Amino acid sequence: MIHFNVPPFVGTEFQYMKEAVENHKICGDGPFTKKCNEWLEKRFDAKKVMLTTSGSTALDMAALLCGLHPGDEVILPSFTFSSTANSFVLAGATLVFVDIRPDTMNIDETKIEAAITEKTKVIVPVHYAGVACEMDTIMDIARRHNLMVVEDAAQGVMSTYKGKALGTIGDFGCFSFHETKNYSMGEGGAIIINNEAYIEKAEILREKGTNRSQFFRGQVAKYNWVDFGDSYLQSDLNAAYLWAQLQVADEINNNRLATWNTYWNAFKPYADRGLITLPTIPEGSVHNAHMFYIKFSDLETRQAYIKYMKDNDILCVFHYVPLHSAPAGEKFGRFHGEDVHTTADSDRLVRLPMYYNIDPADLQKVIEKTKEFIENM
Ligand SMILES: *Cc1c(COP(=O)(O)O)cnc(C)c1O
Repeated sequence: MIHFNVPPFVGTEFQYMKEAVENHKICGDGPFTKKCNEWLEKRFDAKKVMLTTSGSTALDMAALLCGLHPGDEVILPSFTFSSTANSFVLAGATLVFVDIRPDTMNIDETKIEAAITEKTKVIVPVHYAGVACEMDTIMDIARRHNLMVVEDAAQGVMSTYKGKALGTIGDFGCFSFHETKNYSMGEGGAIIINNEAYIEKAEILREKGTNRSQFFRGQVAKYNWVDFGDSYLQSDLNAAYLWAQLQVADEINNNRLATWNTYWNAFKPYADRGLITLPTIPEGSVHNAHMFYIKFSDLETRQAYIKYMKDNDILCVFHYVPLHSAPAGEKFGRFHGEDVHTTADSDRLVRLPMYYNIDPADLQKVIEKTKEFIENM
C-alpha cells in the first residue's frame, strides 16, 4: 500500500526525547521549546514565536487576541479546515465566507472588499498547499479598513511571499506541526506575533492568564492571575521531536520539492493538452511542497481516479467539503457573493501521496498509474 502521508521521522528524535526525560523537563516551556521558538524566530525573521499544543489552538489564541465581540465579522475562505472557522466562532464572531481563486485555491483577494461591513474586524487568509495568498492586496485592504489579519499558515512553514516567511506578514500567523504537516511533533503548532503590542498579552493568554513569563524574566516580583487565559503549552517531549526535524529543515524541504517537481514534470504534458489542471505557483511566491494536487474535469472523474488508484494500492484523497455547506457553517456564517469556484473546484481536486523520503519506486508507481488513468479517460 502506498500511503497518502507518512509522518516525518529523521532519526534523532529519540535521542532528544530521551534527553528531555532524563533531565526531568517534560512540561511546557522547557529547553527544547525554547530552542524551537528561537530557531523559528531567527529562520523566519519573526518578532515572537511560541509553540502551542496545535495549529488549532494557535488559531484560537490569535482569534482571542483580536478582542472580538459578539456580532463582529471575520472574512475567510470556505475552502479550508474547520479549525480556521472554529477559532473565530469560539471568539464570538460571525463568519463571512468569500470565494477562492481557482489557480491557487486561496481566498480571492479581489472579492474581499465587497464583503466588508461596519462589523468586519479580521481577514483570515489561508495559505493553501503552502502557496501564498496575495498578501500585498490583503494587507492594503486591511490597512484601509482598519482590520486585523490572521494568517492561517498551518501548511506554509518554510514558504515565502516576496521574500517574507508566510505567517510573518499579518498581525498574527499560525503554524501546524501535526503529523500530516511538513514538520511534525505529533500534535503541535506555533503562534507568530508580528504586532509587538500583543506579545505580553499573548504570553499571559498562553500561561493560564498569569504573568508567569514576566516573573521568570525577573520583570515582576511574583506572578499573579492578571487576565483571562488558558493553557496552550505543549510538552517539551513534543518539542524535542520537532527539534530533530528543524535541524534538517532544508533537507526535508528539498526532498519534498524534488517529489513535487517530479510529479509536475510528469503531468505537465496532460495539463498542456487540457486533460487535467495543475496547481499554479504565482510570481513572488516560493512554496514548500506541502501538497501535490491535480484537478480533473468533474467530480465523477475525480472519484473514478481515487477508486482506480485504490484498486492499485495507492491512497489519493480529496480535500475540504466547503465549510459554508456544512451544518456548522450554515449555523455560524454566511457566504458573501457567488460561489463560483469554492464548490466546483473542491469537487475536482485530489491530492497525491506526498511525504518526506517517499520511496522513488513508489513515486514512479503513482505517476505510472495516474498516466494510465488519464490516457484511458
Ligand atoms: C492542519 C491545519 C490546521 C490545524 O492544525 P492542527 O495542528 O491539526 O490543529 C488549521 N488550518 C489548516 C489550513 C490546516 O491545514
